[in-house]
Amino acid sequence: MIPIALPLLAEDEADAAREAVLSGWVSQGPQVAAFERDFAAMVGAPHACAVSNCTTALHLALAALDIGPGDEVITASHSFIATANCARYCGATPVFVDIDPDTYNIDPDRVAEAVTPRTRAIIAVHQMGMPCDLSALVALAERYGIALIEDAACAAGSQIRMNSDWERIGKPHGRIACFSFHPRKVITTGEGGMLTTSDAELDGKFRLLRQHGMSVPDTVRHGSPQVIFENYLTVGFNYRMTDIQAAIGRKQLAKLPDIVARRRAIACRYAELLGNIEGLSVPFEPDWARSNWQSYCVRLPTILDQKAVMQRLLDQGIATRRGIMCSHREPPYADAERRHDLRQSELAQDHSILLPIYAQMTEYDQVRVADALKREFNF
Ligand SMILES: *Cc1c(COP(=O)(O)O)cnc(C)c1O
Repeated sequence: MIPIALPLLAEDEADAAREAVLSGWVSQGPQVAAFERDFAAMVGAPHACAVSNCTTALHLALAALDIGPGDEVITASHSFIATANCARYCGATPVFVDIDPDTYNIDPDRVAEAVTPRTRAIIAVHQMGMPCDLSALVALAERYGIALIEDAACAAGSQIRMNSDWERIGKPHGRIACFSFHPRKVITTGEGGMLTTSDAELDGKFRLLRQHGMSVPDTVRHGSPQVIFENYLTVGFNYRMTDIQAAIGRKQLAKLPDIVARRRAIACRYAELLGNIEGLSVPFEPDWARSNWQSYCVRLPTILDQKAVMQRLLDQGIATRRGIMCSHREPPYADAERRHDLRQSELAQDHSILLPIYAQMTEYDQVRVADALKREFNF
């Protein structure tokens, strides 16, 4: 069986988890602080704050910006549902706009059309690890005085060329970037997330909100020779990462350059193997983007039945997934006001499939996937 994804976890992650367990400090503590420093250094961000997952990271991003009822947040429907849900958690309204069919990322022209006096933020997703058009989106956010939040759940290790320099996603280029360490992403801590920002005040708010609004963290009280009483300054949350997760995350982070290099080589090989199948579209990478290839998404011709193709591949031991979902087609958003055309989002969901990709994938298995897919085109 060729799985859709497989985390690259080994003895060193197991050892790190063991050490964290035996250290006696298993909740948010020194390993979390070290993981934050390592992650900030990797992406080039002044501040990084670890949390329980990317969904809670996105929630904290909006909460720290005081986004609430009556506010509108422009985002893509064509994303994992957590992107839209975080606006709803705050009582704000997600306003869905369409994607660029070549990159599956939010279309900056559609964002510009959707801005209203109520717009407070844009959540731009680096979908499947492919950087979105940050130059255009940063300019738009500045022009309208709204916050740009990057949903970088899939994009650890991806790069973008900004003003002729290659920079990592998460620097961040918007106000805040949010990452996921779920096993379907490129590096994992089981569950986990990270917020990066250049704004020290925002970083302080994340730290307060992730830990019940507590004025003095338990790590500080634990190490203090004085008795300290804490206060609870706001209604916060428990969105902490554990030290066990962070210890694993530090080992994963050290492997990230190698993992991304392998995924890029696999994506390159897929393009060679699949590029000449007439009617099949392989993914497009703009010359200013270097994806980490969290997912490898190909587009089928509309005459092929997506589900039937996926079933025949599964019958041959090859797992696939359909194209990224559209939130506006799911029950929580079915009755939401639909102001903008979402045709490209729907076409992408209905006619794309994600192929297996993971750092350990062998050339042999890639050829198996390519051959099985080719057989679908003998119509
Ligand atoms: C995976 C994902 C999330 C959610 O991340 P979790 O860590 O599982 O909460 C959010 N947005 C996008 C685009 C994702 O792919």
